[in-house]
Amino acid sequence: MPEASADNEFEESVGTQSQVPILPAAQRPPVPPEALAHRDLQSGPFWQRLAAYADVSEADFLDHQWQAKNSITNIPRLLAAIEGLVSPEFIRDAEQGFHHAPMPVRVSPYLLSLIDWRNPYEDPLRIQFIPLLSRRLPDHPKVDLDPLHERQDMPVPGLTHRYPDKALFLPVATCPVYCRFCTRSYAVGLDTEEVHKLTFSVDPERWRAAIDYVDSRPELEDILISGGDASQLRADQITFLGEAFLAIPHVRRIRFATKGLAVIPQKFLTDDAWTDALTRIVEKGRQQHVDVMIHTHINHPNEITSITQAAADKLYERGILVRNQTVLIRGVNDSVATMGLLIKRLAYINVHPYYVYVHDMVKGVEDLRTTVATGAYIEKRIRGLVGGFNMPTFVVDTPGGGKREVHSYEHYAPETGVSVYVSPVVHPGEYFCYFDPIHLLPAAGRARWAQPEEHDKMIEEALAIARSKA
Ligand SMILES: *Cc1c(COP(=O)(O)O)cnc(C)c1O
Ligand code: SF4
Repeated sequence: MPEASADNEFEESVGTQSQVPILPAAQRPPVPPEALAHRDLQSGPFWQRLAAYADVSEADFLDHQWQAKNSITNIPRLLAAIEGLVSPEFIRDAEQGFHHAPMPVRVSPYLLSLIDWRNPYEDPLRIQFIPLLSRRLPDHPKVDLDPLHERQDMPVPGLTHRYPDKALFLPVATCPVYCRFCTRSYAVGLDTEEVHKLTFSVDPERWRAAIDYVDSRPELEDILISGGDASQLRADQITFLGEAFLAIPHVRRIRFATKGLAVIPQKFLTDDAWTDALTRIVEKGRQQHVDVMIHTHINHPNEITSITQAAADKLYERGILVRNQTVLIRGVNDSVATMGLLIKRLAYINVHPYYVYVHDMVKGVEDLRTTVATGAYIEKRIRGLVGGFNMPTFVVDTPGGGKREVHSYEHYAPETGVSVYVSPVVHPGEYFCYFDPIHLLPAAGRARWAQPEEHDKMIEEALAIARSKA
């Protein structure tokens, strides 16, 4: 079509100002206040509601070192912080929960003060960080300690090269808090009573081997520095790793993964050395036309406060872009309303929602998983709520096959909870299964999983249907 006519068409469709009809105001009623709830961020000295922090000043509470020093890693300290707020039964429940957990426990005072202690059983932050024995469910028979089979694709300890052009590097094994549902419970955190870890501690030789490997593979353009958590690295280590990867000409994209924004946003506000080190790497990257970003991990709207916003604003002012990955967790964000609020709130603070993961098949947290159908249902009802670039992709990270869009299964049997995906780029010709939690299946499905001899049959049935569609 000639350009001139395209212009005319544009003018015709827009019209001139005098022709614009004024629509009756009633056609678009004012929005109810709930529609703007994503802008109501918790602010003020909310931590002072807890007796233990009643005298903590704003300056102390915003100090990342104060947060780290006062993080809770054992039951007596937890008890001291929430004394008088919860029942003795709750404390006993948590104590037993701690003993059986595959992850160690670490909670920042910031998180602790965001929990609604009047309702600790249902609070979305309590659910993510403090295990309760009473909520524990038996693991699915197909649950695994390394649910993504990351160890199978590790050419160098702590470096996973699964996708053609990207590598995941775990430079450090610790985090500012420990999430109960961590996918890397095989590696992250110290040993617990239940799990002995493969340790990927800070080790110059291991780091060197990982950097050399990336250097030796020209196809690697995209490096994820994950963990553990990049906020646990010292400023000079951020500089070292950033510069080492920026010195490799084929590396075009670097992501630093940190949950800091969700659990200790004070890090970005008061650890100037760390934030400045990252800023320098981002700026250096920009000069070299290499994209350096932060990936964070926020799961519930309550995790975004005015402190988070201040931290996000600071990063934004410095030109550091942030993407977010959310885990779909039962009782935390498995509703359209909560997920919608989270997505809008993330967009509001300039954090791009990137992925929503159907919960991985992790040991010891069966109560946190939900079904593929739930993920698909929520996705369908969220799309359109925010700009398309702020719409996260809902994925299932299939064991061995990697991330697949939730609706893209070859076959899904909600009765047995078996979904089958293919992953043509990573493993052409192979099929990968994900399994819904058994307690959420209809009675017929639960009955079949109760019989071990049925397990392989259910999988074979699903695979046969998937293959027949190929
Ligand atoms: C998730 C993941 C990546 C990054 O994948 P993106 O889809 O690009 O975010 C890279 N390597 C491994 C092993 C992963 O699990
Ligand atoms: S911050 Fe990430 S790596 Fe650390 S425990 Fe949580 S999910 Fe695992």
